[in-house]
Amino acid sequence: LMAINRIFMMLSRASASSARVLEVLDTPVELFETEPHFSFLPKDAPHVEFDHVTFRYARGSFAVRNIDFALKRGETLGIIGATGAGKSTIIRLLMRYYDVSEGSVKIDGVDIRDYATSDLRAKFGVVFQNDTLFKDTIRENIRLGRNLTDEQLLEAARRAQALEFIEEQGGLDAPVAIKGANLSGGQKQRLLLARALAGDPDILLLDDSSSALDYRTDAKLREEIRLHCADATKIIIAQRISSIMHAEKIMVLENGNVIGMGTHEELMETCPLYREIGESQIGEGLAKEVRA
Ligand code: ADP
Repeated sequence: LMAINRIFMMLSRASASSARVLEVLDTPVELFETEPHFSFLPKDAPHVEFDHVTFRYARGSFAVRNIDFALKRGETLGIIGATGAGKSTIIRLLMRYYDVSEGSVKIDGVDIRDYATSDLRAKFGVVFQNDTLFKDTIRENIRLGRNLTDEQLLEAARRAQALEFIEEQGGLDAPVAIKGANLSGGQKQRLLLARALAGDPDILLLDDSSSALDYRTDAKLREEIRLHCADATKIIIAQRISSIMHAEKIMVLENGNVIGMGTHEELMETCPLYREIGESQIGEGLAKEVRA
């Protein structure tokens, strides 16, 4: 549903913007104020902020309680925790699929309820946990209705470590079957990532988007994101510590509560659950990462 919603938002934005162009052409010249509070924000002001956010679904108990963090532009927040801990809820609240029960979510210091939903959602490049591909070409699967050139699509594919297999498949015109059934799990994830990276989003949200990738591809991908998406603020939900250990901030969630917040080194010292996850993953490649 979220994917359909996003496609719908993009299409309605495209038609709304052509209507707006005509409107502007018809309007006599007049000076207007842009939103001045954006221009005067100090460079290190928080970009994405959760201010004591609590949320419960209409039919359910509290999904997250008292979530409080601030990210500067370009910073990365890693989120780790068991299934049902509340990780995806944080992304849903940030994109305003639900409104918070208490507290507020802000972008550039402005409560997200004060943005037009289409402007708000245009800020994000996102891979949801159950995101999927549709029956069309690779080009259309990455483009997703946006006005992007092949060059931009290929650049996004390169960053997503997808370029090589796209070329093997025959390029951007190659077909994708329903739900990407003709591709491997890792190839699907890389195309979804290319989709999220295309258009240089302001905020990149990855919900467990690298679980089907091998450690080497995952590491390469993280390096690409670090190098080429330096200005995007990132929230990365992962099962593997190696996917988030280089983040400026890591949040450990348990039953909707934050039980640890800090860098990898700090959490290895102070958060027993984080240490436990870390130690259980050492055999799976984390040790190599830690040495690197
Ligand atoms: P995670 O991403 O960490 O697996 P979620 O954020 O999806 O966890 O879920 C947090 C809690 O909210 C869980 O207890 C889950 O069962 C509940 N939940 C998630 N979505 C809904 C919903 N649409 N309605 C009611 N409860 C929900």
